[in-house]
Amino acid sequence: MAKEKGFYKEVGLDVEIRELDKNIKFSEIEKNEMYDFSIARSSLIIDKIKGRDVVALAAIFQQSPLMLLTRKDSNINKPEDLKNKKIMITPDVKNNASILAMLYSKGLYNKDFTLLEHSFNIENLINKKVDAMASYLSNEPILMKNRNVEYNIIHPKDYGFNFYSDILFTSSIFIKENPTLTMNFVEASLKGWTYAFENMTETAELIFEKYNTLNNSMIHLIKEGEILKKLAYDNYDKQIGCIEKEKLIEMASIFKVLGLVDKDLDVDSFVYELNPHGTIIFELTSNEKNALIVVFFFSVLVFILIFILLKEIRKSRDLLNTVINSTNDYIFYKNSNFKYIGCNDAFAKFVGKSKSEIIGCTDVDLFNKSNAKKFKENDIRTLKEGSSQIYEEWIPYQGEEVLLQIKKIPFTYSKKEGKGIVGTSRDITALYKINEKLREQTYIDELTSIYNRKAYSEKVKEHLDLFRRYKNVFSLLMLDIDDFKNINDTYGHDIGDKVLIEMTKTIKKNIRTSDIFFRIGGEEFIILIPELDVKNTFTLAEKIKDEIRNMKVIENSIITVSIGLVQVQKNDNIDTLFKRVDDLLYKSKKNGKNCISI
Ligand code: GH3
Ligand code: MG
Ligand code: MG
Repeated sequence: MAKEKGFYKEVGLDVEIRELDKNIKFSEIEKNEMYDFSIARSSLIIDKIKGRDVVALAAIFQQSPLMLLTRKDSNINKPEDLKNKKIMITPDVKNNASILAMLYSKGLYNKDFTLLEHSFNIENLINKKVDAMASYLSNEPILMKNRNVEYNIIHPKDYGFNFYSDILFTSSIFIKENPTLTMNFVEASLKGWTYAFENMTETAELIFEKYNTLNNSMIHLIKEGEILKKLAYDNYDKQIGCIEKEKLIEMASIFKVLGLVDKDLDVDSFVYELNPHGTIIFELTSNEKNALIVVFFFSVLVFILIFILLKEIRKSRDLLNTVINSTNDYIFYKNSNFKYIGCNDAFAKFVGKSKSEIIGCTDVDLFNKSNAKKFKENDIRTLKEGSSQIYEEWIPYQGEEVLLQIKKIPFTYSKKEGKGIVGTSRDITALYKINEKLREQTYIDELTSIYNRKAYSEKVKEHLDLFRRYKNVFSLLMLDIDDFKNINDTYGHDIGDKVLIEMTKTIKKNIRTSDIFFRIGGEEFIILIPELDVKNTFTLAEKIKDEIRNMKVIENSIITVSIGLVQVQKNDNIDTLFKRVDDLLYKSKKNGKNCISI
């Protein structure tokens, strides 16, 4: 970032940054002094004790990311568990001092474990070729997570071996010859680091575009940045780049115990005097003092303004977060590869995972296969059409199925990776069920609770279709109560209603569950009988006629019905079918009622 943001240029420096070539041995680089400034691990202390002219300018990481990674299923979670195990590590002892010191401190010496040469490939750990692997906190755990392999971290820091890492250094000769250049370089470099940690997404984008020799994803780079930030600031207590002499002395004594050196560290000549932790003494003239006071008040004013501004920004961001998290709708955002990059509380609760677990997942990790497939198809369509999509999907949830109404819109989240998707889902199961009930009710007759005339039209259409396609025959039985008007007139409307209800019950008892029973008018009914020809229907009709006659709803009064019977015929439609059965019913009435016509 120091280079990209022009911090070096501002102080007149033209800097070329070179990646470490793993094929060149460290010793060769050391010998040839190929660079003005370099980055080293804490083994730089050993070099210094051994007489190499090096000066530590700044320690970028207050804690070393170097640790041992193991598979969770191996049950290796502390140094002692590594007895007789295979550990993959770079061959040089001095670069792994913190790990070795941790093992030695627990009574494990070189004879107690096997050291294998590092392949820099996590497959060896996943495939159980090795039991532990020297890894970077900021890299391999992310890779393991992507592969869905659970892991343990054995970090030297947790056993008292807290080492610096990524120490920026040069030589005392270089500093002597280029004092201003060195100062400017250190300042601009630390400014670059600070900028990087404060603008993680921008930095990740830059690495992704220009420096991504490890081919990491954007999500990986952002996650890595977050871990490194904690290491750089020692959980935000330390100034960036700070080197503490006491810590160096402690580190040097560990190297001594390990037998890597036999002398103490001359710490004063090792630490750069302008390191962020060094004290700088000012001698000011009165003019300078006055100028300083003006600058001080001006700074306070600017600070207050910035404070107010930040508060406003935070307020609106908090407000947005509150809104997003207060809704019961599930809100989520995905990148162009359909990986989740964020969600609200409701979504996290719905999928039963924490937000950080969800980030980086795809739908396959969160939902069943068939749902995930549909979600992806829809994601693809949303991006392809560039417009919002709404659809509904049944999802298994807590042992039941819920209906989600899902809305997806394309949105730009990164200059480089382009468009992703923001989506909201709403649980509309309750609404769906109410609608179903309402729909159902429009087909039901209130008095008798059987199907009404509207239902008759639909069901007959369905059965006519089946008949045309598959020759599935059906018959219709239409019945009308004889002289019903008299019953109403003699006993009253309520008794008339009771007759209708009792008659419905009687008929229901005599038909099969596959027969469909409709009240199509006041005292007119139709029974649709699938799979039955007119001859067999006639037997049923006679039975119904007799059972109704035998009903005892009103004392000393007999209820009779007239019946028309038809079987569906070729070329029938809803009207011809109805007309034929209605005509036959009329014929029964004309023939003196209480009879059946076919
Ligand atoms: P027919 O033998 O020719 O069928 O004579 P009917 O009296 O049964 O026929 P009509 O069509 O003359 O009269 C039907 C009567 O049914 C008229 C109406 O009062 C009665 N009705 C219609 N719907 C209801 C209802 O929901 N409850 C009651 N109690 N009566 C009804
Ligand atoms: Mg009638
Ligand atoms: Mg009648």
